[in-house]
Amino acid sequence: MSSSKNKTFWFYIEPFVHIALKKNHLLLYNTLNGKAIEQTAFSPSGGNGQVASAAYKSSGNSVLENADRNAGFSSKIFNICKKLLSKKNLRVIRLTETELLKNLLLAKFIKKVINYHMGDLLEVSLSAGKPMQLAPMLSIQRDVERLRKDPGHSVGEYVLNYLDEISFYINDGYELDMPIFYSGWQQFLCGIKSRGRNRELELEKIGTLLDEAAGSPLSRINILGGNIFNYSKFPALLALLGSHKAVKTFHLHYTQLENREKELYDMAAQDSAKLRVLIDFPLQEKQLAGAFQSVEEKNLDTVFEFIVASEADFRKAQELIAALKIAGYSFQPFYNGRNLGFFKKYVFLKKQAVLASKPTIEEVLSRSVVNAVNFGRLTALPNGSVYANVNAGKLGRLGKDSLPKMIFKEMDKGKSWRRRRSKAAPCKDCVFELLCPPLSNYEYAIGKNNLCTIWKPGAGKKNLSDLATGGPAGGQTFVKV
Ligand code: SF4
Repeated sequence: MSSSKNKTFWFYIEPFVHIALKKNHLLLYNTLNGKAIEQTAFSPSGGNGQVASAAYKSSGNSVLENADRNAGFSSKIFNICKKLLSKKNLRVIRLTETELLKNLLLAKFIKKVINYHMGDLLEVSLSAGKPMQLAPMLSIQRDVERLRKDPGHSVGEYVLNYLDEISFYINDGYELDMPIFYSGWQQFLCGIKSRGRNRELELEKIGTLLDEAAGSPLSRINILGGNIFNYSKFPALLALLGSHKAVKTFHLHYTQLENREKELYDMAAQDSAKLRVLIDFPLQEKQLAGAFQSVEEKNLDTVFEFIVASEADFRKAQELIAALKIAGYSFQPFYNGRNLGFFKKYVFLKKQAVLASKPTIEEVLSRSVVNAVNFGRLTALPNGSVYANVNAGKLGRLGKDSLPKMIFKEMDKGKSWRRRRSKAAPCKDCVFELLCPPLSNYEYAIGKNNLCTIWKPGAGKKNLSDLATGGPAGGQTFVKV
């Protein structure tokens, strides 16, 4: 860059860079390389601007080369980032060379932005015009606005497009007393056990819902229950599911597979059928070995999912995987009300892991509008009640409320598909709000939204140091939230 004065520059930030401003806390994050600039605004004391200017004049070097002399962050930078974010500027603003000379902190910041491939300076006199940046808009927002303005319009025309997955709990009784069946189903897809009599979801209601979903891109159907093999119309259910293209996943506990040869063969005969076998602790090893054997020869696409609530569970699971040579497996943490320490160590979000996760800018933007964990998913319980998330309010009842009506209710007023950190304390005041994965059911189970080691009470008031990372994720060994 030339040192002649009064030049004007376009300062722009690339579209793949996420900028977050909360109170006096700033975060710029490059979604392509995982680099971050995180700082807290303060007014520089001791006339830093003058010192900076003097340093520049005495050396005769470019402003940006001298910028490393200053390690702080000025409110000027904060204001510049606010301007970059305004709809009018669309991430491109004008800066004069005089502004850069007067504020070495600003120059240092811009130098870092350039070094981290987050943006650049373009001399106005050498550019063909203001660089163009486009503001994306997600279509769900458009559809909700359109339906609000035109309530007479058929809601089904739009809303069915968002349906992706339905989970049917076809019954809720099981002869064994499984602790995870009482609360696990509110954390992840898991068997269920009612404390009363065994209820069954009527086959006709399942059929009606699937018929209504015919115009949707429904791609996954989950079949769960107390014990799905005890469903009184299991063969008829398989016949019904056989006419649907979606991937059908049958969820069973490993203790439920013994002497079920016929059912397993019938499931394997289905197109796009999968089996998910849940394994919790303490374990009945003989039964697990038997379960493993009985599915092995059925040619069923199977995953063995270990439900772990402690490090001991995790170690035991690893031993079994090695001993039984299990190829398709995964781990699912289970919060049992007594293992917060385990969650803090293995499930809570760590800053390095969040920054290393490199969500695309589209994913980051979508987190401001929807919850990708819940979005597009519905669950029907044995009593016919339908939920977008079993921890939130009921959307309707099978046989009474239509599918489009329930989906629109969720999109318009629901608390699950659009359950965002931007609406949840304390995340709404945190610059990582859109970088952290969407809120999951563990936040419901544990009772707070910030399942992380990042947020500190009073965060945003301290002067945090810069950080840059592209390294491996730390801490989150087997999170699946
Ligand atoms: S407070 Fe919320 S948004 Fe901030 S780091 Fe923690 S979990 Fe993420």
